[in-house]
Amino acid sequence: MNQIWQQFFEDQINNLHQTGRYRFLRTIASPQDAEVICDGRRYINFCSNNYLGLANHPALRIAAINAIQKYGWGAGASRLICGNMQLHQELETQIARFKSSQAALVFPAGFMTNTGAISALVQKDDAVFIDRLNHASIVDGCRMSPARLLVYGHNDMDDLKKSLQRTRPRFRKILIVTDSVFSMDGDLAPLPELVAIAAEFDALLMVDEAHATGVLGENGRGALEYFNLEGRAGVVMGTLSKGIGSLGGFIAADQILIDYLRNFSRSFIYTTAPPPAFCAAACAGLQLIEQEKWRRDKLKENVLYLKQQLTSLGSSCDNLPVPIIPLIIGAEAKTIALSNYLQDQGILAPPIRPPTVAPNTCRLRITVMATHTKEHIDKLIDALRKA
Ligand SMILES: *Cc1c(COP(=O)(O)O)cnc(C)c1O
Repeated sequence: MNQIWQQFFEDQINNLHQTGRYRFLRTIASPQDAEVICDGRRYINFCSNNYLGLANHPALRIAAINAIQKYGWGAGASRLICGNMQLHQELETQIARFKSSQAALVFPAGFMTNTGAISALVQKDDAVFIDRLNHASIVDGCRMSPARLLVYGHNDMDDLKKSLQRTRPRFRKILIVTDSVFSMDGDLAPLPELVAIAAEFDALLMVDEAHATGVLGENGRGALEYFNLEGRAGVVMGTLSKGIGSLGGFIAADQILIDYLRNFSRSFIYTTAPPPAFCAAACAGLQLIEQEKWRRDKLKENVLYLKQQLTSLGSSCDNLPVPIIPLIIGAEAKTIALSNYLQDQGILAPPIRPPTVAPNTCRLRITVMATHTKEHIDKLIDALRKA
């Protein structure tokens, strides 16, 4: 490697070491569940997005195995060439039914869903308005488009409205994008207000239901269902990788919007179709979500129990049934020390630090699963009390 590059890498990495932000990988040697084997030791897992415990469910395993037997592994080509297989089609039909939308389109990852959809939807004379705390994939999707990017304060509807009033005449099309459940804070976007504002300003509303799909709403259809707003957002995005337990992302929307994305979304067009087995696993996950409401009820029970215990420890918690609970510590060193202490006690809850969150809002991001037992949660509370 030449000196310029060598020096560049060394400077960057050294800088991370000095600021305590050097990242490393933990290795899990067991299936993903409420308990995992990590680097040779058993831990209670409080940091997975596998909220319903479906990632290791027998139905998903069997669906994937059967699909491999029937279709083999790889898809061999992009969807538009010859990679579109029966299971891709079936999954999209099932998602559209689940979300009560006219149609759906599956992407190989949730990340690619946001980048591919947003960058296709808005062009030069358009504007996209996003919440300051939206997921990185939303931010990157906006950056990939020449449309004007306008960021409003977190869940600050006055700020969004003022910004729209000031700038609306300058733009042709307007897209507003929000996470429905914010991934690092576990709070909800004010979807009723957002739906009203989108209508008032002739904007298209896109809601990222990554953390809400399978989790929120009577039938697990997400935060839009939770707020009784199904069908009121023009674009619904979700992941197959969190509550559903597989991999991939999707857009659910009107047929014409899906037709448009199939023809214009670069991360859909210029990439190999996902292996059919991962669609089969996603179909099985969706089916469990539709048929086994008790998983959602158990998750909610666990979330509310943990929040109640945290409140008695002096932590301020809301009472939303959202399985993401941030324990905001503030300083980086203190957060790392707490996480290390929990790890010594057999509990996995890694620290979340800049650049993922703002400086001095370092936190433990605790995520709850339906497969956690009361004993798991009590152990976490005990360890936090001692710490
Ligand atoms: C995780 C996440 C994504 C990306 O989904 P993947 O399937 O993991 O690529 C998109 N948006 C939000 C809000 C997320 O939390």
